[in-house]
Amino acid sequence: MDINVLKSLLVRNTTKIVYLIMDGLGGLPDKETGLTELETANTPNLDSLAEMSICGMMDPIAPGITPGSGPAHLSLFGYDPLEFAIGRGILSALGIDFPIKKGDVAARINFATIDKEGKIIDRRAGRISTETNRRLCEKLRKNVKLNENVKWFIETVSEHRAVLVFRGQNLSGKIEDTDPQVVGKKPLKAIPLEKEAEYTANIINDFISKAKAVLKDEDKANMILVRGFATFEKIESMKERYGLNCLAIAEYPMYRGLARLVGMDILKIPGSFEELLQIFSEHYNEYDFFFLHVKKTDSYGEDGNFKAKVEVIEKVDKVIVPEIMKKSPDVFVVTGDHSTPYLLKSHSWHPVPLILYSKVCRKDSVKKFGESECTKGGLGRMLLKDFMPVVLANALRIQKYGA
Ligand code: ZN
Repeated sequence: MDINVLKSLLVRNTTKIVYLIMDGLGGLPDKETGLTELETANTPNLDSLAEMSICGMMDPIAPGITPGSGPAHLSLFGYDPLEFAIGRGILSALGIDFPIKKGDVAARINFATIDKEGKIIDRRAGRISTETNRRLCEKLRKNVKLNENVKWFIETVSEHRAVLVFRGQNLSGKIEDTDPQVVGKKPLKAIPLEKEAEYTANIINDFISKAKAVLKDEDKANMILVRGFATFEKIESMKERYGLNCLAIAEYPMYRGLARLVGMDILKIPGSFEELLQIFSEHYNEYDFFFLHVKKTDSYGEDGNFKAKVEVIEKVDKVIVPEIMKKSPDVFVVTGDHSTPYLLKSHSWHPVPLILYSKVCRKDSVKKFGESECTKGGLGRMLLKDFMPVVLANALRIQKYGA
C-alpha cells in the first residue's frame, strides 16, 4: 500500500489497538508429538481469542528470508524493512537510550582478547562483567584523543558489549566490520564500502589503534572489535504515518530502541509481566496504540529449550492475555516478529502465526492458536509489512477509497 494514499484515507477515531508480540514465537514440531512449541502450550485464553478472531500466517520480510528482530519489528509497525534498513549499530545505540542524532554513525563494540601476535583468542574477552566494561569505557573516554575534530561517544551495553557513536560532518556508516567473526585471526581494518566513507574509515582506524594502545595492559579486554556500522537517518513516526499515539512497553533495550525509532513513547521499563500490565493499565486512556513485547520466547528458542519456550507462552496466556481482554480493546493482535524454532536454535524464515481480534473482524474457523491452525485462517498468508492497513481498518480509522 502506498503510504501517501493510506495517509489520505486516515480518519480520526478513539479506538484502541494492542499488539502483543512474543519474540520468535513461531516454531517447529516436536519429533514425537508433531506439535510446535505454541501448539504444545496450554493456552485456553489465546485459543478462545483465536476463536473470536481472524487468523493467518505472516512473512516478516519475504518468503524464505530469515529476519533479524530489527527489520521484523519495522515490518510489524508497517514499515517496509527493505526500504528502511536500520543498521545494528543504530539499534544498539537506540536500545541503551543513547540520544542519537541525524547523521551520527554508530557501531557495536565487542571487547576482545588478542595474543602477542595480535590474533584474536576470545571474541568476547571472557565475557567480562558489566562493571569492568564501564571502567574500560571510562578509560577510553579519558585517554583516546582523535586526530580529526569529531565528537565520539562510547557507552556500555552489558558484559563485553558496548556502543560507539561518531558525530560530525560528512560521516558515513558504509564501513566494513573489523570483527572477522572467528578466533585465530587478526582484527580487520575498517574498510570503506564507498568513496564517501574513506574519511570516516580513517577516523575509525585511528580510534581503534588508539583504543588498542590504551587497553594493552588489560589482561582480558585488550582489544575492541567493531561491527554493524550504520548512519542514523530519522524515519517518519507512527503518529505521522497513521495518526496513532503509541506507547511501547518492553523489557529489553533493543525493542525500546526500535519503538523509539518509530516515535513511540516509553514511560517505564517493566521487570515482570505484572509490571508490564501495570504500565499498560495506568496509561491505557492516554494512547491509541500499545506495543507489548515479550522477549523470552525468542531467548529459549535460541537456547533450543522447547519446554521453557512452551512455559513462557503459557504464562503469557495466563497472566497477560486476560488483563488485556478486560480492557476490551477495539483491536488486539497477538503474534511474533519472526520464528525461532527450538530445533534450529536461531531465527528462521518460517512464517509466524497471527491472531487479529477486532469488534468488526470477519472471524474464521480457527479455534486454536498455533501454526497449523493459523495456516487455515482467513487472513491467509501475508507479508507482515502489509498488515498495518488491515489493523487500521479494523480500528475504523480508514475511510473509503474513491466515490
Ligand atoms: Zn525477534
